[in-house]
Amino acid sequence: MKNKGRQATIILIICNTFLFAIKISAGIMSNSLAIISDAINSLTDTISSIIIFIAVRTSSKQADEGHPFGHHRAEPIAGLIVAILAGILGFEILHMSVLSSWSLMYIRLVFLQL
Ligand SMILES: [Zn+2]
Repeated sequence: MKNKGRQATIILIICNTFLFAIKISAGIMSNSLAIISDAINSLTDTISSIIIFIAVRTSSKQADEGHPFGHHRAEPIAGLIVAILAGILGFEILHMSVLSSWSLMYIRLVFLQL
């Protein structure tokens, strides 16, 4: 990876980590699922950036004895891992949202007789 690209990726990782820290604090203090979800999104952005950073660095390596065709497949594998992570995050947020709205409805039905 070129030096500028590497620097930009490192800055991105630091910024996303900082954003995660601020958002998770605000989310926990306000007990807001939306803000906590956004914080987790920033965390997965950080993890994705680290995975992509490693993959781009690995793919630029020359072929060696263990990998006679080179290391170019590192990038699509990283893309697959990032996509799976994003899918799991989306499902978990959907799951938490449905659970919390159902539990609210349940409380209203049982205790408030609405
Ligand atoms: Zn190798």
